[in-house]
Amino acid sequence: MASRTLRIGLIPGDGIGKEVIPAGRRILEALPASLKLKFEFVDLKAGFETFEQTGAALPDKTVEILKNECDGALFGAVSSPSQAVKGYSSPIVALRKRLDLYANVRPVKSVMTAKNPIDMVIVRENTEDLYVKEEKTYEAADGSKIAEAIKRISEKASFRIATMAGEIALRRQNIRDGGAPSIHKSPMVTITHKSNVLSQTDGLFRATAREALAASRFSSVGVEEQIVDSMVYKLFRQPETYDVIVAPNLYGDILSDGAAALVGSLGLVPSANVGEGFAIGEPCHGSAPDIMGKNIANPIATLRSVALMLEFLNEETAAAKIYAAVDGNLEEGKLLSPDLGGTATTTEVVEDILRRL
Ligand code: ATP
Ligand code: MG
Repeated sequence: MASRTLRIGLIPGDGIGKEVIPAGRRILEALPASLKLKFEFVDLKAGFETFEQTGAALPDKTVEILKNECDGALFGAVSSPSQAVKGYSSPIVALRKRLDLYANVRPVKSVMTAKNPIDMVIVRENTEDLYVKEEKTYEAADGSKIAEAIKRISEKASFRIATMAGEIALRRQNIRDGGAPSIHKSPMVTITHKSNVLSQTDGLFRATAREALAASRFSSVGVEEQIVDSMVYKLFRQPETYDVIVAPNLYGDILSDGAAALVGSLGLVPSANVGEGFAIGEPCHGSAPDIMGKNIANPIATLRSVALMLEFLNEETAAAKIYAAVDGNLEEGKLLSPDLGGTATTTEVVEDILRRL
């Protein structure tokens, strides 16, 4: 087998992003040689500090290099100033738009030995729904205000997000077969919506997702659907039920934050922003100014984001190895960072996980 070289953009951003992104680079460099994977890294700028230095939170050069030279990227975190700062807006939101990263993928996993073990991934459509931001305010006949927002659902966007969910379900099965521990036996996608009330918009999402998942290549994937409110209930009562959840933008946003709360620390939860042939791994946490510079940030959200990025670059075997090494560290529970009740430093956690690779 010929070896493959992947070029990865590294965007540490602000705060603990600068401590966890180097850990992401280390784990890529530590992957076994038998995988025949090589990496080249490009250091890129974005974030609040970059904004203060250059006047742009997301320099054009960063976007161009990602577009033209990179196979994937890792994004740390950016601090969001507590008061609006003129000219500053979130670089990750801009990046999703400029690279057409239409899906936000968020796996949520607990330790397997937990009382209610969890191993799910939420696949959120990221370009439309209520977030098209077409709002208006006008006056009713009596002079009181009325505000309206457009909820737009398209067949195209619904089809591609559901297709991605099906592919993720298949891949998770391969990763389980490749040795990553899991509570699931067979792949399942749950389509979530509110089509009992919103028969046109959510109705279209539901019907299109069903159609996408009926493709013959998904014949081994179970498909079910659930109304979003009852899903929230079940998500908290029986989280172990879910494998892959696919949702329109707004429900996906809410479900993914809610699900992240089930596993104890933001420091565990990864994500990926995914488009056609490109993925950016990004830990779910922010820049955590309260713990920055202390070498105590939990690196696991980032290490899992690295694995998730690799999944989308079709490197399932490498991803499975990282997932298994992280799970090994958590299950043994001896070298945990303070957010999980331990006393280990970021460096110690990373080194324990590298040993397990
Ligand atoms: P930002 O404005 O960048 O979002 P924030 O103050 O909201 O910053 P978050 O990063 O969202 O901070 O974190 C919320 C809380 O979770 C903080 O107390 C932070 O210390 C903790 N936290 C976040 N990420 C980690 C991590 N990787 N390891 C340990 N604790 C974390
Ligand atoms: Mg935050």
